[in-house]
Amino acid sequence: MNKPEPVNDRLEAALKKAEQVNAQKMEQLLSTRAGSGDRPRFARRRIGIMGGTFDPIHYGHLVAANTARFEFGMEAVILVPSGRPPHKEERVISDPEHRYRMALLATFSNPHFLVSRFEIDREGYSYTIDTVKHFKEIFGSEVALFFITGADAVLEIMTWKNVHELVTYCSFVAVSRPGFNLMHLNSNSEIDEKLLARTRLLEIPALAISSTDIRNRVAQNRPIQYLLPEKVEEYTRAFGVYK
Ligand code: ATP
Ligand code: MG
Repeated sequence: MNKPEPVNDRLEAALKKAEQVNAQKMEQLLSTRAGSGDRPRFARRRIGIMGGTFDPIHYGHLVAANTARFEFGMEAVILVPSGRPPHKEERVISDPEHRYRMALLATFSNPHFLVSRFEIDREGYSYTIDTVKHFKEIFGSEVALFFITGADAVLEIMTWKNVHELVTYCSFVAVSRPGFNLMHLNSNSEIDEKLLARTRLLEIPALAISSTDIRNRVAQNRPIQYLLPEKVEEYTRAFGVYK
């Protein structure tokens, strides 16, 4: 019997392939014209954007992206791993390349999921508004953008000072997340009516999974299997990301 290929080599090969496929998906998305293909369900093409640290990406993220895509008829969802997020300075975030590569492995098999390097290739802090503006520019005004966020993150976003400009470029899909009440949005006096009108609330299958919990589990030698895609778990082990 042949000796099995070392796991790192196997992952590097899978990553190379995933990177190629990801580039093809982006090319395809950029070359699609409005009205081509199946008769569109909506007046404008719809594309989702989901920001996050993805440290690591897990099934909570993937179910949120997939449910939002299906329910709102989006052609694709672009995951955008953050560079150095302004809100998370209290802990050391894993190398952006690791987070990007894990997201690539997690999305490889889904033709509608893409990963963007936009934020990790930028210097310093990244603001959601710059990211959304970037995608508005490359896709043009015939595409309606949806920013997908969990119930915890949407409460933060709604109180950002540039959120009123942000909603001129995209609308929001706020998905349910165990431990965070989406209905608080409706009764929060800091959030104005115009913003709420641009936000769709979406109940998704509850997954009490978080990257924080996954990192803690690795640190304590507790299992993370079935909380995230197998290849991503393999990657964390092979590259000792959380050790
Ligand atoms: P951390 O614990 O490091 O904050 P996280 O699990 O919250 O990680 P993020 O990268 O912070 O993951 O989240 C990216 C986006 O995904 C956010 O909008 C967040 O609300 C959403 N999200 C993450 N996990 C879930 C989940 N289990 N269900 C619904 N939404 C989720
Ligand atoms: Mg989070």
